[in-house]
Amino acid sequence: MTDFTMQTGSDGVAVITWDVPGRSMNVMSLAGFAELDALMGQALADGAVRGVVITSGKDSFAGGMDLNLLAGMRDGAGDGGDDDPAQGLFDGIMGMHAVLRRIERAGMDPKTLKGGKPVAAALPGTALGIGLELPLACHRIFAADNAQAKIGFPEINVGIFPGGGGTTRVARRLGLMAAAPFLLEGRLVAPQAAAKAGLIDEVVAPGALLDAARAWVLAAGPGDIVKPWDRKDFRFPGGAPYHPSGYMTFVGAAAMVAGRTWGAFPAPRALLSAVYEGALVPFDAAIRIEARWFTHILLNPSSGAMIRALFIDREALEKGANRPDMPPQKVQRLGVIGAGMMGAGIANVAAQAGIEVVLLDTSDAAAARGRAHAEADLAKAVSRGRMSAGAGDAALARITATTDFAALAGADLVIEAVFEDPQVKAGVTRQAMAHLGPEAVFASNTSTLPIGDLARASDRPEDFIGIHFFSPVERMLLVEIIKGARTGPRAVAKALDFARRIRKTPIVVNDARFFYANRCIIPYLNEGMRMLGEGVSPALIENAARMLGFPLGPLQLIDETSLELGLRIARATRAAMGADYPDAAVDAVLEAMEHEGRLGRKAGAGFYAYSDRGEREGLWPGLGPLFPPAAAQPDLVTVQHRLMFVQVLEAVRALESGVLTDIREGDVGAILGWGFAPWSGGPFSWLDMLGTPYAEARADELAAAFGPRFAPPALLREMAARGQGFHARFGAARAA
Ligand code: NAD
Repeated sequence: MTDFTMQTGSDGVAVITWDVPGRSMNVMSLAGFAELDALMGQALADGAVRGVVITSGKDSFAGGMDLNLLAGMRDGAGDGGDDDPAQGLFDGIMGMHAVLRRIERAGMDPKTLKGGKPVAAALPGTALGIGLELPLACHRIFAADNAQAKIGFPEINVGIFPGGGGTTRVARRLGLMAAAPFLLEGRLVAPQAAAKAGLIDEVVAPGALLDAARAWVLAAGPGDIVKPWDRKDFRFPGGAPYHPSGYMTFVGAAAMVAGRTWGAFPAPRALLSAVYEGALVPFDAAIRIEARWFTHILLNPSSGAMIRALFIDREALEKGANRPDMPPQKVQRLGVIGAGMMGAGIANVAAQAGIEVVLLDTSDAAAARGRAHAEADLAKAVSRGRMSAGAGDAALARITATTDFAALAGADLVIEAVFEDPQVKAGVTRQAMAHLGPEAVFASNTSTLPIGDLARASDRPEDFIGIHFFSPVERMLLVEIIKGARTGPRAVAKALDFARRIRKTPIVVNDARFFYANRCIIPYLNEGMRMLGEGVSPALIENAARMLGFPLGPLQLIDETSLELGLRIARATRAAMGADYPDAAVDAVLEAMEHEGRLGRKAGAGFYAYSDRGEREGLWPGLGPLFPPAAAQPDLVTVQHRLMFVQVLEAVRALESGVLTDIREGDVGAILGWGFAPWSGGPFSWLDMLGTPYAEARADELAAAFGPRFAPPALLREMAARGQGFHARFGAARAA
């Protein structure tokens, strides 16, 4: 079985078709590269061939490099007797470049740039990563006019960068300024926008794709196939680093990257170095520089961890790695009870996924407000070109706002998002169950209340489950599915199938106070407030978190979620725990802020100050007098370790107590749920980076200095004693 085949027509155009057997989308493997190289060699050597078109036998062109293979290349670097682990990897990358460079040169004389045969790429649909780097090595890129297709480089999102020449070629094609969104932000665009940006050359009607590429190959003159960067007079668009305007662009880009990443992510910085240094030298030297930086990034533990969590494990969870063996559970009609912030968001994403939604609240006005939220969001999506007007209207038409529980009849899933009050939740559960058929599953979006307790209001606890969304529902990628003690497999399968339908990544956890996500987030918030109360400078706390890659520091995150919520949770926890309650120091900070009337962003005043228009202006100057900074401030790493350990030890406890059953869910859930230091690959991945013996010793030090919440759980001690890693141990058990 081969990935590439070639057929030469009577017109002398050889069409190479990429069609990896048994996969819905092409991905590039090392064997695939070798096949492509061999076919190109044949075409170039064959006197009867006038030129080549490279296309795909699928709806799309290619999804990219096989990242499993990249992860293997990384982990295997140094195997096979290489003295220098980086060398094998570098040689492999240069081998890939050589194949692409042979396509780009297409047999021409490298000195005179004479001869050679035209090579066109014809993209029927999506072209990502190496699936765009290969076309960029061809002489002209045609794409079918397919608004669903995505073109670009998603690599930066998994901790690497386009390392198959894409960085060097796109920077030389567009200049740094125009290339930046594609390279540094991973922006993916439809073919029309890609052509407008200059990323590809021509968009044609889908039926005319091959003919257009073929016609271009037959008409191409000798000058048409020499790349600008191979000509003597090449000038870097927008200016190379020592050009006055180029200088400004490069300085600006470096500042932008530093401002966005806070130095926490290695890949954007390496990418920028590759572009900067590459811009100073001829193309072939630039490619070697790109390969060196790419090797450097692949060998950084962060890239392996990010690829594992954000690509391999995330995909496995989305495909239902922990789904019970059950027939597909379709959700055609969804009931949402409570049309507030969360309920309106859930109704919106479900309607966009094609599901009929009944959105219920206590008054017509409240239900209508929930629907109006979806209407406003859909209008924005249409005005920004993310959705057609027809699709927006259709989605809105799927949402029925009502106050009548009888309208829930026929729903196959109901999610309640009413007030966080057990009595109110029990009431709506009973009212809904009276109208639901045996096929229906009832779910609660509670953020704190045990699912087992809430299920008592249902006469079918096996069909009762937690589906915990994060705010804002439209943007947050995770849903946490919570199994009560009596939740049955059909409810789990239905929740997972629903998550997949609305394109969220699911994790499945067992029932316990705060489940998994909030169990880890709350200690992060509390540690921030505790430090503030101790006299640690608030700027140090917030910046320490940002430099770890958290999107929001703990104080900002409390402002966003509201201090009231914090106070409510604190009071409920204190009531439940009595004398054992460990967070009095945190409550003192919350109560001091409450006393000042600073309840967070919605109140226009919190740990941060806000303008009249609600814009965040900076830390509130009143924090100094309220929580006087200590004369001696802790060092940055101590603050960072407090913020990190307080969360990861909680994640270990969640695993130890069976709330988490799969560390992949612990890692992926942390990154997608609350932005846990994405470069680390998640809490368990970070502990593996530290090594469990060091993690145990450090936790002991922190416990001695700051309190028993840092005491290593027994599981960590046991693993440290054996020198075992979490992924080594639980990853292997999982695969067995
Ligand atoms: P909200 O106050 O914005 O909305 C609650 C809605 O429920 C209101 O519109 C209210 O009128 C309605 N409601 C109350 N009683 C009702 C009844 N008997 N019948 C029908 N409707 C009723 O609250 P929210 O922030 O959307 O939170 C809702 C739920 O989601 C809570 O359980 C909360 O803990 C959970 N949650 C919230 C967040 C968040 O960030 N806000 C995140 C995850 C989960």
